[in-house]
Amino acid sequence: KLHNQIEEAKGNIRVFCRCRPLSKVEASNGHATVVDFSAAKDGDIGILTGSSTKKTFKFDRVYTPKDDQVDVFADASPMVTSVLDGYNVCIFAYGQTGTGKTFTMEGTDKNRGVNYRTLEQLFKIVEERKETSTYSIFVSVLEVYNEQIRDLLATAPTTKRLEIRQASEGFHHVPGLVEAKVENTKEVWDVLQVGNNARAVGSNNVNEHSSRSHCMLCIMVRANNLITGECTKSKLWLVDLAGSERLARTEVQGERLKEAQNINRSLSALGDVISALATKSSHIPYRNSKLTHLLQDSLGGDSKTLMFVQISPSEQDSGETLSSLNFASRVR
Ligand code: ADP
Ligand code: MG
Repeated sequence: KLHNQIEEAKGNIRVFCRCRPLSKVEASNGHATVVDFSAAKDGDIGILTGSSTKKTFKFDRVYTPKDDQVDVFADASPMVTSVLDGYNVCIFAYGQTGTGKTFTMEGTDKNRGVNYRTLEQLFKIVEERKETSTYSIFVSVLEVYNEQIRDLLATAPTTKRLEIRQASEGFHHVPGLVEAKVENTKEVWDVLQVGNNARAVGSNNVNEHSSRSHCMLCIMVRANNLITGECTKSKLWLVDLAGSERLARTEVQGERLKEAQNINRSLSALGDVISALATKSSHIPYRNSKLTHLLQDSLGGDSKTLMFVQISPSEQDSGETLSSLNFASRVR
């Protein structure tokens, strides 16, 4: 009982901090590491800000560069599987470009990330529960770029603008967005590849483009309890956010300036929504960005939210690291 009370008081927002390893280039250029992991086991992380000064932060988990995809997913797994019990869930990766957001969410072919592992786990549980429940699982893959939604599973190019609508029962959805039914992990992998390939179309530098857009995977679950006859509908969002780095004013003009302003606006909107939820504010400003509007059903209420704040260990990035950790502390 006491444990439950503590859990309730903490709310439904968790923050996990993950630091990537120093890259080969950084190591060969002699970049110093500014991250202190000595109390990582307790969720504490320190950033050296001078020869004898350190700023410390506390999170629900801290992953060192030695922790792998299995370690990370082990902690996220209970949250993702609660979507099968009717909860709406949102997991997102926040941080400067190059800190491992895509590595955590998507991963690589050999080192698959949260997205694939989530679906793999869902299918496993669906199989275990087949005597008592039946489930249908659908996925959508989309991108939000300059406050516009782009369907990455659409087979034909469309000029019709995708907009967010609220159904009568309160559920938010995007009419016209492809929802692909998936029945096994092979189908999931194929759908994720289609989404990835679509992302590259129309951009001459895929990495650059993906660091300036939010890549969003939505997993919709329809559950039918064969014993009680109860039907539930829930969804899980898995989001690889645009890079959070601030660009020097002098560096950006024209299209880049517009992109930077849109990113800035949507990431601030996300921070505002989550801190409004954390402080139990009566007004939650979901409508300030496409990102928060899309995520509305999975942020707040009895839904569960997990934020990965991704950081670099390098001294060169310490300014951005501190600003990401401050953002993450604000939402916790
Ligand atoms: P972001 O999506 O935040 O821009 P990436 O996921 O592309 O960053 O990561 C940048 C580089 O660092 C990639 O080459 C990635 O494979 C590597 N990387 C990131 N995190 C880790 C990690 N925890 N372990 C090993 N390599 C990592
Ligand atoms: Mg990325």
